[in-house]
Amino acid sequence: MKEFDYVIIGGGCAGLSLAYELEIHKKLENKTLAIIEPRSEYKRDKTWSFWKVINHNFDDCVKKNWNNFSIKTSNKSKIIKCDDFPYQSIDSGLFYKKIIERLKKNKNISFYTDIKDLNTNNSFIFNSVPSFKNSQNHLWQHFHGVEIETQDSFFDDNVLSLMDFDCEQRNNVHFFYTLPYDGKKALIETTWLSTINDNLLKDYSNQIKDYISNSLRLKNYKITYSEEGSIPMFYPTNFSTKNKINIGVAGGMTRLSTGYTFLNIQEQSKYIRENIENIKNSQIFSVEKKYKFLDKIFLRVLKNYPKRMPNIFFRMFSGSSNAVIKFLSNKSTILEDLSIILKMPKWIFIKALFRK
Ligand SMILES: Cc1cc2nc3c(=O)[nH]c(=O)nc-3n(C[C@H](O)[C@H](O)[C@H](O)COP(=O)(O)OP(=O)(O)OC[C@H]3O[C@@H](n4cnc5c(N)ncnc54)[C@H](O)[C@@H]3O)c2cc1C
Repeated sequence: MKEFDYVIIGGGCAGLSLAYELEIHKKLENKTLAIIEPRSEYKRDKTWSFWKVINHNFDDCVKKNWNNFSIKTSNKSKIIKCDDFPYQSIDSGLFYKKIIERLKKNKNISFYTDIKDLNTNNSFIFNSVPSFKNSQNHLWQHFHGVEIETQDSFFDDNVLSLMDFDCEQRNNVHFFYTLPYDGKKALIETTWLSTINDNLLKDYSNQIKDYISNSLRLKNYKITYSEEGSIPMFYPTNFSTKNKINIGVAGGMTRLSTGYTFLNIQEQSKYIRENIENIKNSQIFSVEKKYKFLDKIFLRVLKNYPKRMPNIFFRMFSGSSNAVIKFLSNKSTILEDLSIILKMPKWIFIKALFRK
């Protein structure tokens, strides 16, 4: 059986980002890598979006940048500028194509569909397959999105709608997210923050149809693409060992309060590449502790007071947009953290601090 220096389990966002980072920094000229990925064909399956607070390797896979986003509740709305940190969307189809084409040129990199075909006794393993225990009782961000096209120009593509809470909440937290790519094309997603065992929330297609016709008041359109997924709002139970570290969602790269993961994956890949020669003895890269602590309290509030969340999110985005963007993207200073904390309703957050 073949042996490799490095094995990446899962050729998704984290596995491929890491392989690409190692490849372009020439870390695979004298080392061998196997990528284990069960899917037989890569197709566009996700749209990764984030505020661009750091540089990354995938500017050429960006579908669009926005300098404005909106947030709306049932009785108020506002548009927020983000010129310093534009909101970007990456097309996963372009991302997969760019990386696979590059990796296939290196003879030291091989692709397998099953780890059983390898001898991994002497390999260092990067695992991106998460394992979850009791996942049904935890909160998830689950969503379904459709890309639609209209005959005539309809959307204002200068402003993306980050959260529109003016919709049925069904005792959970629910919002619509709209990325207008141009006047005639947009991705519209229905997003729930809830436990995942409630199938009553999963009539996604009806929710989207209803939102398009009754809230957007759009009649004629065609659906050209759809995506569906769920992001855990808790950490998976994967453990690292001497010869294995977890990456991506499995490695705790998701910011639990928001689901943003893509840029954390890029930072984790860079960290691993910088330490690859001594990876066995390097510290594990993780989201800073202060964010983990603050997110834990935030999620307790979300679980106990779902009806308050539209207003809490709305208040969060008042004042300096840079502070809140940096806070949500793990780049805030202590003063910026404080400015966000002070905007929160005190009593329910204090209760959440002391009670589960
Ligand atoms: C639809 C969707 C949209 C998202 N949008 C955003 C966003 O806008 N912004 C953001 O920051 N984050 C977003 N996320 C969260 C996060 O960025 C993505 O989930 C991202 O793909 C995580 O990368 P990953 O490598 O950890 O997992 P994945 O990309 O899911 O990769 C895991 C890989 O492991 C493979 N695999 C599964 N089982 C095995 C096995 N037994 N052996 C080997 N391989 C296996 C899978 O086929 C897959 O390719 C989104 C998530 C989803 C699901």
